[in-house]
Amino acid sequence: MAQRVLVVGLRATGAVVVNWLRARGDTVTVVEERPGQAAYAERRAVAAGSGATVIEGSPDWAALLATTDMMVPSPGVAPSHPAMLAAATAGVPVRGDLDLAVEAATVPVVVVTGTNGKSTVTTLISAMLESAGIRAPAVGNIGRVALDAVDSDAEVLVIEASSFQLHSVTATFVPEVAVLLNLADDHLDWHGSFAAYVEAKHNAFRYQRPNDVLVADLDDPRVAELAALAPGRVLGVTSLGPRPGAIAWTGRTLDDEQGSPLLELDEDAWTAPHERANIAAAAAAARVMGADPVAIDRAVRGFARLHHRTELVGKAGGVEYVDDSKATNPHATLAAVRGYASVVLLAGGDSKGVDLGMLAAGADRLRGVVAIGDTPEEVESALGAHAPTVRAASMRAAVREAAAMARPDDVVLLSPACASFDWYSSYSERGDDFRREVEALLAESGTPDAGSAR
Ligand code: ADP
Repeated sequence: MAQRVLVVGLRATGAVVVNWLRARGDTVTVVEERPGQAAYAERRAVAAGSGATVIEGSPDWAALLATTDMMVPSPGVAPSHPAMLAAATAGVPVRGDLDLAVEAATVPVVVVTGTNGKSTVTTLISAMLESAGIRAPAVGNIGRVALDAVDSDAEVLVIEASSFQLHSVTATFVPEVAVLLNLADDHLDWHGSFAAYVEAKHNAFRYQRPNDVLVADLDDPRVAELAALAPGRVLGVTSLGPRPGAIAWTGRTLDDEQGSPLLELDEDAWTAPHERANIAAAAAAARVMGADPVAIDRAVRGFARLHHRTELVGKAGGVEYVDDSKATNPHATLAAVRGYASVVLLAGGDSKGVDLGMLAAGADRLRGVVAIGDTPEEVESALGAHAPTVRAASMRAAVREAAAMARPDDVVLLSPACASFDWYSSYSERGDDFRREVEALLAESGTPDAGSAR
């Protein structure tokens, strides 16, 4: 039955949602409070052309909701937003774009979530399934809006789900496979508390049926605790040696729950512990969805680190320069730091209400620290007592300070533990700036070393 739907936000996701709802015959009103971003005019024209009513600026939410059957907030709309509060008061159901996509999907769905590693694991699962001849696009928070793929020729949908998207799902959110990678402090300003953040992540598998599967990294105690609430089957993964019923690493071999090998890594491939955890989780999900071990092994061999995730951008004087700008919380940075023996760390930015103190757990790897961003004191208070720490007022200065501290065999690592919005418009812009400054420095200081692929 056609509904009256209020869509909040007309950016990439909102535009697809409006289009999809109109195509199924709903009456749609869409509100954009800050019109004028890139491509907005085109989105507005398409939405209006589809028959949706477009409202710009801040409306009287209570009045709008009085004639609304369902509200679809864009992923960025926080629980404290007046539209969310008004919907709660009016008793209007709130359903995010992923909730609509999973309900509408006519093919099996894999939902990937966790504090870190979502994009990497989503991409890996998609690659493993494609390698087995199964059409399985990677969609959701990773880029392509999931609803856009619902009516495609996909045989499986592999959906990256952010905590924001998972906040607004209902009992129809029933993925055949959910993957929970890890849980650590992030986005506390948006969710209001860690407990609320965990509740959102719980939604990834809260409504599963007994035959559905939750892939859970049991080496993360918070994941193990939450997985105990799963209504379906839990398929654990671990890097701590064989464990009954779990997919487990033993040395370089990943074995399935029966102890049969799923894949074997080359000597120097994927040595960082978090990367092994990601591969195991992806292999588990791909296996459940029907990929065979040969296809899984082939996909891992062909896989390259994603842009801005511990990506090598230069090498000189025995020092490697690595861009991990996507590390926007301390859990990601700690994982990156632990992947190397000796690191000069560039960290800092918008911490989003998250305490950086846990970075101290990686202090034994730190040659030195360069604090960047508008609040360097947060980095200094986390690490100043553990390693030589200096401030830099620009990326150029930061790269030069780091190069001066580094010794041969060290890694200069941009892994900020924070969002980038104080200095940049995105993590990718920050990573690109780092790369540019590294290249400028290496060009001035002589011949770069031949490439190395960690
Ligand atoms: P997400 O999509 O969750 O942000 P990404 O795959 O884009 O995840 O990686 C984000 C950051 O987290 C990168 O800095 C990466 O090095 C780090 N990371 C990736 N996987 C893990 C993991 N399993 N545990 C901790 N950190 C990780």
